[in-house]
Amino acid sequence: MVSVGAPIWTLSFEDLAAWVQDRGQPAYRAQQIWHWLWEKGTPAPTLMSDLPVALRQQMESSFSFPLPQIVHEVQSRDGTRKLLWEMPEGGLVETVWIPHKSRYTVCVSSQVGCSLNCTFCATGQLGLERQLKGYEILLQVYAIRHVLKLPVSHVVFMGMGEPLLNYSAVMEAFEGLTQRLGMSPRRITISTVGIPKGILRLAQRKEPFELAFSLHSAIPETRKKLIPLATHISLEEIRAALGTYCEKRREWVTLEYVLLEGINDTPQDIEALRAFVSPPVRAKINLIEYNPVPGLAYRGSRRIREFQQALMQRGLLTTIRRSRGADVAAGCGQLARRT
Ligand code: SF4
Repeated sequence: MVSVGAPIWTLSFEDLAAWVQDRGQPAYRAQQIWHWLWEKGTPAPTLMSDLPVALRQQMESSFSFPLPQIVHEVQSRDGTRKLLWEMPEGGLVETVWIPHKSRYTVCVSSQVGCSLNCTFCATGQLGLERQLKGYEILLQVYAIRHVLKLPVSHVVFMGMGEPLLNYSAVMEAFEGLTQRLGMSPRRITISTVGIPKGILRLAQRKEPFELAFSLHSAIPETRKKLIPLATHISLEEIRAALGTYCEKRREWVTLEYVLLEGINDTPQDIEALRAFVSPPVRAKINLIEYNPVPGLAYRGSRRIREFQQALMQRGLLTTIRRSRGADVAAGCGQLARRT
């Protein structure tokens, strides 16, 4: 039983079919509505031209059709667009659209703010306001594709918040992306700063999505300074969960590593990384250029190429992620809702 005024996005196809049946309409009407909503991307009954007017009016009075509302938008020189928007159930979050060659990635937020307070991250300074609902996460992609009419080929859960601390909503959004918006799970990356329980739950799933782990240092003492959560959850515990994930799914993970000058770019860091990436953990390392955050004293390392070479010489597959959207504070770790 769906309550009056429920967001239409929260209905399953079965819910919709039952609602259509209750109004004495033929079953194919549910398919028509579903097609308008999810395939054509039409978020308003008035535009659903092949439905009887009376049914459209009943939809208007039975459901709500909320969408994120843009509060502020900026565009980088490289084409990256950062949207600050108000979510249907309140709260401001940022979503970033990143065009690069033939790839169009949306970086979605999974929480309003974040509780983890990583010391290099602007979002971490905000604290956690609330969890986003699954449909609110999904609507960030939906609105970019169907309201702003921008292409979307990939989605990364790397915006505001720690996705695995909002596991159910994130997986609901993931299912919406694949089953409602028709995206391939291979083009979806879930990122975590290291929640072993969540990693083990992901290990049980069959869909071929990607997992990224924000390592940032394989030396426990250094990592604790960057990620306060690391004082409660040890690297060994996370490594064990990643090992299970790799073995169960027969897959690799990506280790995200923001290279900071004098903090995690030393020869000892290279050896610690080498030791971290060994069976059962199979991983590619992604070195990330640091994006400055006002008020934080960190500086990006100038040794990024050297660091990559040293890791590759040790047999570790290592790439460098160039910063996108940093000039408008849309890069990694810069999402702080500043306008
Ligand atoms: S890096 Fe991620 S987990 Fe850490 S504070 Fe920022 S948003 Fe939260």
